[in-house]
Amino acid sequence: MKALVKTEARAGFALRDVPEPTMKDNEVLIRVKRAGVCGTDVHIHEWDAWAQGRCKPPFVVGHEFAGEVVQVGSLVTDVKLGDRVTAEGHIVCGRCHLCRTGNSHVCPNTRIIGVDRDGCFAEFIAMPATNVWHLDDNIPYEIGGIHDPMGNAFHTALTGTTIPGATVLVTGCGPIGIFAVGICAAAGASRVIASDVNPTRLALARQMGAHDTVTPDQAEAAVRRATDGLGVDVVLEMSGVPAAVHQAFALVRDGGRVQMLGIPSKPMELDLAREIIFKGVTIYGVVGRRMYDTWIQMTQFLRSRKFDPTPVITHRFPLEGFAAAIHAIKSGEAGKVVFEIG
Ligand code: NAD
Ligand code: ZN
Repeated sequence: MKALVKTEARAGFALRDVPEPTMKDNEVLIRVKRAGVCGTDVHIHEWDAWAQGRCKPPFVVGHEFAGEVVQVGSLVTDVKLGDRVTAEGHIVCGRCHLCRTGNSHVCPNTRIIGVDRDGCFAEFIAMPATNVWHLDDNIPYEIGGIHDPMGNAFHTALTGTTIPGATVLVTGCGPIGIFAVGICAAAGASRVIASDVNPTRLALARQMGAHDTVTPDQAEAAVRRATDGLGVDVVLEMSGVPAAVHQAFALVRDGGRVQMLGIPSKPMELDLAREIIFKGVTIYGVVGRRMYDTWIQMTQFLRSRKFDPTPVITHRFPLEGFAAAIHAIKSGEAGKVVFEIG
């Protein structure tokens, strides 16, 4: 089969002909139709310090996908040939303390497809049936293929927060931030303020329902205006940029919540006393998607049709166009970039 492979421990990918994946009895084989390209894939492509520390080439890259089930292992009972599916890309142990207390998203034994084992930028992928998520008939494969990052946004926006009626600041309007804007708008936030340095992405945030779209230097005034000077109830930090992290704590109200998804590229300093403790701020660290409450929530929002992520997808490429796909992400001019495979 055709697959995009990280062949060696240096920058780049190669499109290769590789053997189809072999499948275990508890797994299904999926013909990949659409696959989302993510910042993580860019890190692996560039072979940065994180990728060097984590990944062991050769392996097939890609972790966001949807497709059709073409083979079913002998122990699988609830997935059938022809099913339209996507999948949770974090394969967890199911046995540890965290898995057994409903916290599989932080299972220490997690293996991520396209990072720790073969991924989905290929014609076929084998997945444990427990990770498979069925798509409603009216959900196109393209939307199925972006459930992973959309799930990050649902997890961030809706875990431990009360969004109906709330004032929300989203710092960072990459694809996940833009999804989060749409989710908060659909969930009944009274005001969603979206901040980014990039006008293309702010325009997408507005399209997805942001009431205010601002550059970081305008964010404070917008928040003061929208909250009578109080600060927002909830900040979704979705940039990982230190200046935005400080701004998140500065602009959340006393007693508010900061949901942290963005990953700073290196350790950063915070004035814990001033920025967090004396403000009585609650912080939630987001990893992946909650299994499987996030997936249930996401499916129900899509069913309600109050949330439609389609406008976030701005670029589509065949696997052969991987260099252009990586370039589109690095340029900052893209929302979500998707490979059209099968
Ligand atoms: P991204 O990295 O493209 O988005 C970041 C956005 O922040 C960009 O649009 C950028 O212009 C903007 N930005 C830069 N400086 C800013 C500032 N000072 N104020 C506001 N915005 C600013 O894309 P993404 O894929 O949406 O990912 C968002 C973040 O989430 C990244 O840090 C990524 O590594 C992280 N991430 C975390 C998880 C997790 O499980 N915790 C999963 C996926 C991604
Ligand atoms: Zn576990």
